[in-house]
Amino acid sequence: MEAYEIKALVEKMGLKKFRASQIISWLYKNPVLDIDSMSNVPLQDRKMLKERADISGLELVKKTDSSERHTSKYLFRAHDGALIETVKIGSGDKITICVSSQSGCALGCLFCATGANGFFRDLSTAEIIGQVTYLISTEKIKINNIVFMGMGEPLLNYENVIKAIRIMNSPDSMGIGIRRITVSTCGLPKQIRKIAGEGMDFNLAVSLNAPNNQERSDLMPINRKFPIEELMKAVDHYIQKTNRRVTFEYILIRGENDSIKDARELAELLSGKLCHVNLISFNRVKGCDFGPASGERINLFYQILANSGVNVTIRKSKGSDISAACGQLAGACIK
Ligand code: SF4
Repeated sequence: MEAYEIKALVEKMGLKKFRASQIISWLYKNPVLDIDSMSNVPLQDRKMLKERADISGLELVKKTDSSERHTSKYLFRAHDGALIETVKIGSGDKITICVSSQSGCALGCLFCATGANGFFRDLSTAEIIGQVTYLISTEKIKINNIVFMGMGEPLLNYENVIKAIRIMNSPDSMGIGIRRITVSTCGLPKQIRKIAGEGMDFNLAVSLNAPNNQERSDLMPINRKFPIEELMKAVDHYIQKTNRRVTFEYILIRGENDSIKDARELAELLSGKLCHVNLISFNRVKGCDFGPASGERINLFYQILANSGVNVTIRKSKGSDISAACGQLAGACIK
């Protein structure tokens, strides 16, 4: 619920007006996991609240810590058994939370464990926010960045994701800077155009992974429906409308999309665009035969892009030993 909805609910319930800010604070600023822990809300008011609302959305099934420092994966179960994974990366004031927007995913990218397991359902706004508030509450952490790079395609759960971002960003609620929130999409042109008109300046990342339709369709079936030309037109529209830089994620898979020709083609495709490319080595996924590009090839790929004037970074994704890295989230550990 957004702050204004909580205020309206409090008013409807006939509670004192200032209760709304107390409740908002317990939900988003110093989050608690049950209504009874809202210690400055009188017992009678808490009782009434419990009759109308339930804030205990997610149950932690398992937490796994990576051997790489400061990376942990959390497996949650929702009320109907839907499994969700969330990853915490970093420490101190540099903590990033990678949230899921769906339980499973229908898009079936070949390099991704989530896609291989199929789609269960969209997450509600409360379940998206709940991943973050659970970690703030139990781990006593301050969050620096939120990335929608967990399970699911965020733009296929558009309304719930946008509402969750409003709650994350609103100074009335969580107060996380909009530039500290990133939404990663496999590239849905209609929704990318829609974001351009939202007036919300979160970061947009597009999972590209190939410079041409043939290779991209082989890796990402969604490309057969929305080919690169259509995706790029939507991205150009977004850049023109928002003047924001778009990030392209490129997972380098040995023998699939890591040739010199691919690098040159990618440089040409992105030439002159207000964008940045993140090169990510493929993380092994159970049941998938792909392997990571060699370090040497990644460096060469980087050089070709950089020499062509494309902004590019080699990213190391964390938590691969606990299947918490890019493309590895599956909720599979208890299935
Ligand atoms: S990469 Fe993203 S869009 Fe593709 S299957 Fe995985 S979760 Fe879905």
